[in-house]
Amino acid sequence: MYRSDAKAAWNPALHPRDRFGRFIETGAIVSLWSTPGLFRVRRPLSDSRVSVEPLFGGEPRTVAANRVQVIPALSPAPALELEHAGLNNVVTSPNTPEEVTKAVDRARKAIAKVHGVPDVVPVLPVIAQVDRAGKLPAAGEYLVNSTPGGAAEPVSLFISPNGVQPALTAVHEIGHVLDHLLLGAGRDWFATSGRGEPVQVDDELTGWWAAVERSKPYQLLRLMQLRLRNRDTVHWSVIKHPSTGEERPVSVTRGETDYYVSPREMFARAYAQWIALRSGDPVLLQLLKNDIERGFGNIISGLSGWYPRQWPEEDFAEIAAELDAIFTARGLLKGDQP
Ligand SMILES: [Zn+2]
Repeated sequence: MYRSDAKAAWNPALHPRDRFGRFIETGAIVSLWSTPGLFRVRRPLSDSRVSVEPLFGGEPRTVAANRVQVIPALSPAPALELEHAGLNNVVTSPNTPEEVTKAVDRARKAIAKVHGVPDVVPVLPVIAQVDRAGKLPAAGEYLVNSTPGGAAEPVSLFISPNGVQPALTAVHEIGHVLDHLLLGAGRDWFATSGRGEPVQVDDELTGWWAAVERSKPYQLLRLMQLRLRNRDTVHWSVIKHPSTGEERPVSVTRGETDYYVSPREMFARAYAQWIALRSGDPVLLQLLKNDIERGFGNIISGLSGWYPRQWPEEDFAEIAAELDAIFTARGLLKGDQP
């Protein structure tokens, strides 16, 4: 058989490289030199120009390849079962509502694409109901017991089937689990401290925490705390109901603000955003986008949500890089290392 080599010839126009010499592949997530935000590559246009679109929506644009920095792609996990052995112990009981089972399954698969989990998690049941008389129902909760010796003992993972974003919640709660059982294993406690000041995080997390402190959500929450000094609640802004157009004032409370700004909660939120971004899971990315929009002055379905709980995309690159570093240092990050 005769076969022309012409079609198979290397065409450099289809293979532009970024400013570090890495190939820019279609679908890759990239950042742009001197432009905030993250972008997805639509296609290469020549050996020096590519078409990109903002990751969270917006108009496509053409940019010079030498302004592009590819965020290293993550390889699919070939030995998925083996490499997230620790999370195999997170068991959903047969009578757990289907939505919760699906959410936990999605969370585990997304996490397995991003990093390995050593077998540090004891058998941890997922429950879909929790008895918390007198407390507002949460979307999720990692329940631990404090032992008389001052250690925390894992009990279970609660994921509400009624939450608006159970899959993102499942990743978030697993973030709390790993803060405790992976990063905090050395002292049987969370690597992030509890609430309030002085802020203390384990040495391993100081770079990550510094990046959080420079971010917009953190600074906005600190501003709320400042206004809340000596008060339990303070008027914060006005929101407009999306369908009725009715405007009403919203307040923030000291309890909620202290909770959102704490390193432990910040870690689980950053972890969930990082997993969504690095795994590229479309459902997680959409839930994240909803949460970001809601947290910066918008409102969905008339429910509360004006606390900035997740990061705008341009604010998150540095935090994501710090999480990369933490998991790289432990030899757990998957994919192409920079
Ligand atoms: Zn949390």
